[in-house]
Amino acid sequence: MNTYDFQPGPIHVLRLEAGMDVVDAITGYATARGIDAAWFSYLGAVSRASLRYYDQVGHAYRDFAIDRHLEVLSGVGNVSILDGAPFVHTHAAFGDAAGNAFGGHLNRGCVVFSIEVSLQELIGDPPVRHPDPATGLNLWCLTPPGEPAR
Ligand code: ZN
Repeated sequence: MNTYDFQPGPIHVLRLEAGMDVVDAITGYATARGIDAAWFSYLGAVSRASLRYYDQVGHAYRDFAIDRHLEVLSGVGNVSILDGAPFVHTHAAFGDAAGNAFGGHLNRGCVVFSIEVSLQELIGDPPVRHPDPATGLNLWCLTPPGEPAR
């Protein structure tokens, strides 16, 4: 297990507006405010969802889109560092008019109808994503530079 103890930072509350891209909006906010470590949640609605599913055997993403109006039942995500810049990783569950639920890892292309976000900064050395051969994913390295792995 790779762990690191952060201190709680400020809580930012955002209202994303119609037509914004969910991932781009949160990434842009984090970048503009210099936030490199955070955890967030959100709810609201989108006019389109663009998602992906990770094939754990094939180590490849399968992208798909749902081109209709959906509620955001529950969204969660975090901000860390990838390639030297703030990187947003977020998953969400969406619901349709019949109460059916869908979900996945958000790609760019999720179009906001209205979304409310609560994002809490984490104070400490930001997590940095590095390629992980076992999973094929870019995963956090939380151990500060110069310290042995915990
Ligand atoms: Zn994901």
